[in-house]
Amino acid sequence: MLKVGVAGVGHLGKVHTKLWKQVDGVQFVGVFDENGAMGSAAANEFGVENFSSLHALLKQVDALSIVTTTQAHYAVAKAAISEGKHVLIEKPITTTTEQAEELIALAKQQGVKIQVGHVERFNPALIAAEPYLTDPRFFESHRMAQFKPRGTDVAVVLDLMVHDIDVILSLVKSPVKSIDASGVAVVSEQLDIANARIKFENGAVANVTASRISQNPLRKMRVFAKDAYLSLDFGAKSVDVFRLIAEGEHENEGSLTMKLGEIEKGNVPRTIIYEKPDVKDLNPLKYELELFRDAVLHDLRPVVAGEDGLKALAVAEQIIISIEKQIL
Ligand code: NAD
Repeated sequence: MLKVGVAGVGHLGKVHTKLWKQVDGVQFVGVFDENGAMGSAAANEFGVENFSSLHALLKQVDALSIVTTTQAHYAVAKAAISEGKHVLIEKPITTTTEQAEELIALAKQQGVKIQVGHVERFNPALIAAEPYLTDPRFFESHRMAQFKPRGTDVAVVLDLMVHDIDVILSLVKSPVKSIDASGVAVVSEQLDIANARIKFENGAVANVTASRISQNPLRKMRVFAKDAYLSLDFGAKSVDVFRLIAEGEHENEGSLTMKLGEIEKGNVPRTIIYEKPDVKDLNPLKYELELFRDAVLHDLRPVVAGEDGLKALAVAEQIIISIEKQIL
């Protein structure tokens, strides 16, 4: 049985609290929020204990979900790891790569796990798409949200784009070669809209756009791989695949498939097919919590470890630097 608490019970911390209470093999201990009123409101809503200090909560738990504002991730995680507690840190891991490196080193020393809340990795649409994504060559991603003051303590690159950066880095297993980016702080003090073209050493390219001042929300990624084109909708949790199959090659089981035509590619006859892979009906955040529980209880590498959070943050930092250079 894993004893778990939540630090920071604003919008998302309340969702962590609600879902942790539904995860098997977990004893939910309680919550702490720097803003006492937020802590007691969440405690009342979910019938859990409200702790008056982080230290008091840490004394009672094995693991902590850190769902504070991004600026506070580092200090709260450092306190928890120093006391030998496993941490699930919401994305982005921290606001600077130096802070993330320090937490990773400290966790190693303390023998505890860090998982980072890049929740799209647990999105069943991405999981269904993964078998088709062995050699992605080009990505076009759009993550658009309506304006809310929450999250504006950091640039949209750290708030929203970092999700797509993490997904892309998990699929392209090659170092970043160059980044060209632009962006604007329209409403807040920080970048509200940004676009980056990321080139990888293996030739793959990602064109990534994020905005938090859009009229309509959208979380879509199009991926072009050798012999395949995929359209992934993280919000609708759906995937559409168009691909070429060789003669005799079987279509995937569990997919709705339609033949679209025949062509010759490199003098080889191929069939163009459309597939709609089955997407599991699961809550990505609950699944993320379950896999964090398993990583801790069975001493496994978390699906999104501290090192992955650091990699995504390092690319996000480069994007921000590239934009700042253009603005100056
Ligand atoms: P929020 O502003 O609604 O809540 C943050 C809470 O943290 C507030 O109640 C605040 O009082 C508390 N807090 C701040 N400093 C603290 C400290 N030192 N100790 C304890 N509590 C503290 O923000 P939110 O929208 O819930 O976002 C929280 C985090 O979750 C952010 O890092 C954000 O990037 C992340 N987030 C992730 C996703 C996702 O899709 N994975 C979505 C939204 C937010």
